[in-house]
Amino acid sequence: MERTQCCVVGGGPAGMVLGLLLARAGVEVTVLEKHKDFFRDFRGDTVHPPTLMLLDELGLGDRFAELPSKRLEKMRMMFGDATIVAADFSRIPGPHKYIAMVPQWDFLNLLAEAAAGEPTFTLKMGAEVTGLREGGGVRYRDPDGAERELAATLVVGCDGRDSLIRAEAGLVPREYDVPMDVWWVRVPKLEDTGKEAQVFGRFANGLAGMTMDRGDYYQTSYLIRKGQDEALRAEGIEKFRERIGGLFGWGAGELAAIRDWDDVKLLKVRMSKLRHWYSRRVLCIGDAAHAMSPAGGIGVNIAVQDAVAAARILAAPLRRGTLTARDLARVQRRRAAVVSLLQKQQLAEHKMLIEPALDGTLNERTVPLPLRASDRFPQLTAIAAVLGGIGPLREKTPAFARR
Ligand SMILES: Cc1cc2nc3c(=O)[nH]c(=O)nc-3n(C[C@H](O)[C@H](O)[C@H](O)COP(=O)(O)OP(=O)(O)OC[C@H]3O[C@@H](n4cnc5c(N)ncnc54)[C@H](O)[C@@H]3O)c2cc1C
Repeated sequence: MERTQCCVVGGGPAGMVLGLLLARAGVEVTVLEKHKDFFRDFRGDTVHPPTLMLLDELGLGDRFAELPSKRLEKMRMMFGDATIVAADFSRIPGPHKYIAMVPQWDFLNLLAEAAAGEPTFTLKMGAEVTGLREGGGVRYRDPDGAERELAATLVVGCDGRDSLIRAEAGLVPREYDVPMDVWWVRVPKLEDTGKEAQVFGRFANGLAGMTMDRGDYYQTSYLIRKGQDEALRAEGIEKFRERIGGLFGWGAGELAAIRDWDDVKLLKVRMSKLRHWYSRRVLCIGDAAHAMSPAGGIGVNIAVQDAVAAARILAAPLRRGTLTARDLARVQRRRAAVVSLLQKQQLAEHKMLIEPALDGTLNERTVPLPLRASDRFPQLTAIAAVLGGIGPLREKTPAFARR
């Protein structure tokens, strides 16, 4: 029987940060990730200032700076022909006045390499957890298909919005109505527009989308009404090319990259929140505890901040062997209010921007008041940047993890 103090299920942003931090505290930790590598397209690739500061404090800032990245200083939105700066990250306090756009697999590989240097850390890739184990820990299938068991004092579900650990622990999330799903496509960038990365939200004629400038291509999300994937695909790929081309001003060169529906990936948007993040010997954090909408692109930052708080609170009781449900409750108490506030903000963004955009009632004359005010008084873009870039609470990096 394999045994560990903390079994982390899922090697996404929450799981890898938690694994690294606990290992630096000397806790025996095993991260089980069902995929064989971190290489998957269409993930949240935004690394926010609190995560950049965390990496500095972990002694990983220089290595992170060597990764291929672009800096996003302003979040711009276009309504018809009018462009509005919604958030200006160059106005936020602290050393990192931008959001770094870095492929998530590079970010996760960096964390995995750093953690591999810690004697109490184990990462098992291609290890799919299939259930909780009686007496604590999990059952999982190893890369060769063999069924195994890992006993653990604590299981932390970092397995994302469709969390198996959450279901196995009998934790049922409250689901929120969301108006959209997202189609993601990758479109080549045919001319270089300058150094700063651009994120453009575009809203026109009942269409809505967002491009992220990834250097030589645009990672592009195109919003569709929830549940409309099949019906819209039935209209044919040419119709979609016409729509997205019109929205972003792309010609035949860019649109040639969208050859057929295989190039258009559906991402189902979900928003949910657990009432209790924990049960006996199990805790959920990140999207497993509170699936975030893509609105504002804050999910990765929140998942990382959950992990920092969890590591700070749980390291000592795990090491001493005194962990109780009270420690797990402390993690929830620390994070739940922040998450609720940010989810409320995302729901407000759905109402203010996404629903009218999909209804066709959003245009340069009906730009929502907060955005019109930001356009008039640019100082306000700093408030949006602090909320979106840092969030209401930055978790302190524990001393045991600093290098
Ligand atoms: C369309 C869309 C766009 C988004 N864009 C952004 C963005 O630009 N910026 C941003 O910050 N956020 C974005 N988000 C939100 C963001 O993706 C999530 O909030 C964030 O990834 C949560 O991190 P996590 O570590 O909790 O979970 P995840 O990133 O979902 O990681 C979960 C991990 O668990 C693994 N796993 C799952 N089940 C098992 C199992 N049984 N056994 C072992 N491993 C398992 C998975 O393979 C995965 O690696 C977006 C979300 C959507 C839907």
